[in-house]
Amino acid sequence: MTTSIGISIFPRDSYDANDLLKFADLAMYESKARGKNTCTFFEQALSESYTRRILIENELKEAIKNNEFSIVYQPQIDALENRIFGFEALLRWNNKKLGFVSPAEFIPIAERTGIILDIGNWVLNKVCKKIREFKAKKYRFNNVAINVSPIQTKETNFKDKIINVCKENEIALSLLEIEITERTLIELNDEKIADLYELIKKGINISIDDFGTGYSSLSYLTVIPINTLKIDKSFIDNIEDEKNRAVIECILNLSKSLKYKVIAEGVELKDQLEILMNLGCNIVQGYYFSKPVGEDELEEMLKNN
Ligand code: C2E
Ligand code: CA
Ligand code: CA
Repeated sequence: MTTSIGISIFPRDSYDANDLLKFADLAMYESKARGKNTCTFFEQALSESYTRRILIENELKEAIKNNEFSIVYQPQIDALENRIFGFEALLRWNNKKLGFVSPAEFIPIAERTGIILDIGNWVLNKVCKKIREFKAKKYRFNNVAINVSPIQTKETNFKDKIINVCKENEIALSLLEIEITERTLIELNDEKIADLYELIKKGINISIDDFGTGYSSLSYLTVIPINTLKIDKSFIDNIEDEKNRAVIECILNLSKSLKYKVIAEGVELKDQLEILMNLGCNIVQGYYFSKPVGEDELEEMLKNN
């Protein structure tokens, strides 16, 4: 047994008994977040980050109703053919009180509170409508990727929801790609794995997001249902390093044998692109080609595709 301890001090932190308890509690959660079995003294910064978290949580509850979300799209380029292969939908939140909040900050809070389910549905509907509109206009692209939270995949009707939203919007299932992080995929139970296999059989693309960051064994690649692998930006950042390049090369060879499509994420420099192409990785996403853009800008790109 180990203990996580939080400490607040009278009268330094407060004169009020309730405050002192609340602050000690916050400090205890900080101990847990720092790996447990430690003690933490309350500091004002803890209270500030707590207050911000609560504010985000409250504001998120009304965000869909208040029309505060939007989606930006980042092209995935086939660098050999020099055209847009597909794009990834990324959520944006602009709130009256908080301004723009990064998804990296609000998604974990939405996940803890369960609001992510409503947000996830909103994204799914919105993106499928866009796919329908773009296909009606005869734009050329292979698929659109959306990020799916582990909480969504655990919902009992996850599989049906994905199929139904495509049906409702009359789009082929193959136009949708769902991105699931490596960490989520390795935690799925057999039932969920069967669901994902069925989705793949029906044409949905499933990709491992942030591949290479999950500390998982390679053998799991033989059991999880995926057909695309996204090499994490951290590998691309260090691509000049010989050892790093060897790892990327290994991932590419492995994907070739397993017949996975590979996308390199976070490509910012021409040199990185050249090395990747020499290694045989042609589908890239990153600031070098384009940052995530709004619907109108994306449409302009597709017109010229
Ligand atoms: P992610 O899925 O790994 O998305 C890639 C992130 O890297 C995006 O940040 C994108 O804007 C950024 N990025 C792309 N190219 C480059 C580059 O060349 N350089 C650099 N420095 N960054 C690049 P963003 O949009 O802030 O999203 C952060 C994370 O939030 C995403 O990471 C994803 O995990 C999550 N997220 C975003 N939208 C959604 C959503 O609709 N649902 C869920 N569940 N999660 C989402
Ligand atoms: Ca992603
Ligand atoms: Ca990623």
